[in-house]
Amino acid sequence: MAYSFLLATGNAHKAHEFSELFPGDVIEVTSAPEKVEVVEDGLTFSENALKKARAYYQKFKKPVMADDSGLNVLALPDELGIHTARFGGEGLTSKQRNELLIERLKDKSEGERSATFVCVLCFYFSEEEVFFFEGRLGGSIASLETGAEGFGYDPVFIPEKVEGDESLAQLSDWKQKNSHRALACQSALKFFKERVGQN
Ligand code: IMP
Repeated sequence: MAYSFLLATGNAHKAHEFSELFPGDVIEVTSAPEKVEVVEDGLTFSENALKKARAYYQKFKKPVMADDSGLNVLALPDELGIHTARFGGEGLTSKQRNELLIERLKDKSEGERSATFVCVLCFYFSEEEVFFFEGRLGGSIASLETGAEGFGYDPVFIPEKVEGDESLAQLSDWKQKNSHRALACQSALKFFKERVGQN
């Protein structure tokens, strides 16, 4: 394996998606032995990803891959984005957050329901050698939850690149190849493959 990274996440769904997104012999990601608590108070996805990566690196002294992701919703610009995981306050379930999102958008137009999932990956070898990659997935927020797969906001997110109005929670095979996380991983793989070729 050319590059091996500890994964800076306690989210088992994400860890599973990442392990499938890096097949082959260029990048390997393995779960960290324990979760490190990190205050995500950065002003951007990149800042938060860097904070997580640095915290795991300082604890385990190995190269780390961290991600930060979230959902930007046009009608609610200040409430989601980097605050997505805490939308509606701490301690809500994903289902409660989805219900709240549907409620908050109930009088909004089609255009205002437009939304983008964003994922930023941070590959941290040392404080002097850090690489970032970003992926985005456009779509809109549905007025009902559908589907039982995936996690988080998947049941209310309708990707624009798929015909019909299935949610990400009904499109797990498609999601695995086309999500914001998948696109960021594809960019990272391309970069690290070229880097291996140059060595
Ligand atoms: P974080 O990246 O762990 O800080 O979490 C970002 C927030 O975005 C969480 O509330 C996640 O549930 C949500 N999120 C990130 N990626 C996805 C996804 O692929 N599907 C559904 N929700 C997601």
